[in-house]
Amino acid sequence: MRIYSEEVSVKTERRFQVVNITGYVEEVVRRSKIVEGFCLIFVPHATAALIINEYEPRIVSDYIKWITEVFKPGGGWRHDEIDDNAHAHIASSVIGTNRFMPVRGGSLVRGAWQEVMLVELDGPRTRRVLIQVVGE
Ligand code: ZN
Repeated sequence: MRIYSEEVSVKTERRFQVVNITGYVEEVVRRSKIVEGFCLIFVPHATAALIINEYEPRIVSDYIKWITEVFKPGGGWRHDEIDDNAHAHIASSVIGTNRFMPVRGGSLVRGAWQEVMLVELDGPRTRRVLIQVVGE
């Protein structure tokens, strides 16, 4: 078994933003030369998250609408007294900071409408994304 790792840096431009990182992930899988295994994608941040789903402008704005409606920025959170980003910590906790995807035949396995997206919850910032490919 081998492990191949790369880290990419993603600059976000808005407070809430969805960035399609599928191209980076597929490129790392290709460079790993691992044929059968899995790929871990991880963001080492407390106010960002990862989702796998359709990347289309209307649904992307719906993800942000959902996040701001459910996690309520400025919603009277105690942490806002020091940092003004409690909503981002809670959304990151619920949505999650890691995803696993299968690697088969040297490629990332994904559905026709599945893209890997970094969700910025407290931008703009520079975010790190760690991609580890594990297998043979
Ligand atoms: Zn904070």
